[in-house]
Amino acid sequence: METKDKGFNSKLVHGGGFHDNLLSAVTPIYQTSTFAFKNADHGAQCFSGESDGFIYTRLGNPTIIDLEKTVAELENGFGGIATSSGMAAVNTVYLGVLDAGSHMIGHEALYGPSRAIMESLYPKFNVESTFVDATDIKNVKSAIRPNTRLIFLETPANPTIGITDIAAVSKIAHEHNILVCVDNTFCSPYLQNPLDLGADIVLHSMTKFINGHADIVAGIIITKTEKMYKSLRGVMMNVGCNMDPHQAFLTRRGLKTLAIRIDKAQANSMEVATFLEQHPKVDWVKYPGLKSHPQYDLAKTQMRGSGAMISFGLKGGFEAGKKLMDNVKLALLAVSLGGIETLIQHPASMTHSKLTREAKDKAGISDGLVRLSVGIEEAEDIIADLDQALQKV
Ligand SMILES: *Cc1c(COP(=O)(O)O)cnc(C)c1O
Repeated sequence: METKDKGFNSKLVHGGGFHDNLLSAVTPIYQTSTFAFKNADHGAQCFSGESDGFIYTRLGNPTIIDLEKTVAELENGFGGIATSSGMAAVNTVYLGVLDAGSHMIGHEALYGPSRAIMESLYPKFNVESTFVDATDIKNVKSAIRPNTRLIFLETPANPTIGITDIAAVSKIAHEHNILVCVDNTFCSPYLQNPLDLGADIVLHSMTKFINGHADIVAGIIITKTEKMYKSLRGVMMNVGCNMDPHQAFLTRRGLKTLAIRIDKAQANSMEVATFLEQHPKVDWVKYPGLKSHPQYDLAKTQMRGSGAMISFGLKGGFEAGKKLMDNVKLALLAVSLGGIETLIQHPASMTHSKLTREAKDKAGISDGLVRLSVGIEEAEDIIADLDQALQKV
């Protein structure tokens, strides 16, 4: 079915346009490493690009292509490049876009490894980087250098839930011939389309909302132009960070319910955030749907919903955070996010425990900070669970 002029849920269900001779209702798993050619001429046409036949799964596979086409359509991009993980997508963009001697500006609160590899690995290729609080556009402007090639944003960012103005950053970037890439993992294409706001590249950890069932690790890059698509696809194919057909099948299946999952999770999130905001043991709550969020107005214009990620601070600090973790019963004490189950984690004692006090302050990690990925259980059960655990804090 042609889904270009259809609504979001129709695209989720029918996008990709896959058909085979057996008319199977869902795209099958083509669990094969290689594809036979009909004859020598056909083989030659596959390699030259005259035929869109398949060659070898690292280069392309029908199950994976169906997923890539669907997500590219959801993001209004030219094409999608699926990868073995979200970090493989980040690295593919870095490798494809940054030359030796070039410079990248990143938001200071990027997903940990997106910043860590840039600071620890890329200097050996003579790539420089500056990390700034991009939620204030002045900081982005003053970090631009003559050799700046890429601005890398994540919005809302992890775990501070800070929101960056994608359109404003893209405008400044393009005046200086700089590309903009947005990690759109926290929103998914349902809530935000960075390419429509001016970005050049968007990427996702499909491990999170797109698959949504906490059972695979995967990533994807979507580009605005054909030229960038070909360039980054070439990097993925030769570096070998391709997705696996079985992973693609599960992800395509999970994607079909993206909108109804997020509708439920963000309705729950609004109730949970409101509950937390009036709780005496809670110091502050950061959620884009609350009027108290510093970028509430920007969130309203840039995003089509408030999402399912909440950060909050406990008045009791580090010990209170640990106590809360040890007493929740419904919420799983786990990293990751965007699944159907509610996950809770305490960065100061878990993900960020090895950081120095100074580094934690820089990343916005206070001792009492708790991160919640709200699932699709009943809101009253999630609230009751947090309530009983907060009583023990
Ligand atoms: C999880 C995550 C990543 C990394 O994705 P993996 O699939 O774990 O490699 C990148 N960015 C954000 C915002 C994430 O949440």
